[in-house]
Amino acid sequence: MISNPINILARWISTSRHFVAFTGAGISTESGIPDFRSPGGVWSQNEPVYYNDFLQSHDSRKEYWRQKSIAHQDFTNAKPNISHEILSLWEKRNLLKGLITQNIDGLHQDAGSETVSEIHGTARWVNCQSCSWREKADLHVEQFVETGEVPSCPECNGLVKHSTISFGQSLDPAVMSQSNAWSQKADLYLAMGSSLVVQPAASLPVIAKESGSRLVIINRDSTPLDNLADLVIHEPLGETLKKAEEAILNSDKL
Ligand SMILES: [Zn+2]
Repeated sequence: MISNPINILARWISTSRHFVAFTGAGISTESGIPDFRSPGGVWSQNEPVYYNDFLQSHDSRKEYWRQKSIAHQDFTNAKPNISHEILSLWEKRNLLKGLITQNIDGLHQDAGSETVSEIHGTARWVNCQSCSWREKADLHVEQFVETGEVPSCPECNGLVKHSTISFGQSLDPAVMSQSNAWSQKADLYLAMGSSLVVQPAASLPVIAKESGSRLVIINRDSTPLDNLADLVIHEPLGETLKKAEEAILNSDKL
């Protein structure tokens, strides 16, 4: 038995009862989606549109749709990578019980994950701000790019926006309550590809740890929660998960 960090992680995953994963932008950069907070990312080049401005000003709505239409290209061209696929596999094998993500790109679902809590919403859908109408985003983005017209709700003529959480917009209470419940129930909490700085990303792993879970962090750079973690791996994510999966498949050697 060799107790390297990968083998420790693999053993903890194999023996967990309520394994919960948390993912941030770092999991999708390996699919070619830029971290929108990083240099070169969408928010280094554009002023984000705040939710109140979206509600109050037509010009802000137009700017919002312009930015979202650019980001949409990145999402539609992107494919899930090995990390998304392994997390989906672990769910299918009933190892992973819940997946919380900060990402809005829908790549976890593309990889086949079903038990996903999207704390910042999803860019794959648009929805009305006044009624319950929602639809896939693609057609509406295409129409905006063609006509420059900001879409309105076909049911009630209300304002239509991507189903993501904008700056100044409240998180979805149902999604947050599920994410909190999973974090409290976890006995293994694997946070990866997130700098764990932005709320609520910064607090969910702490909730898990304080509720008695083991906390593992895989991230390229160090995070403010590294000191709290039982295991920290500063290695590329895809490679690390691939090695962990191989170790699980050879678990007699763990
Ligand atoms: Zn409506």
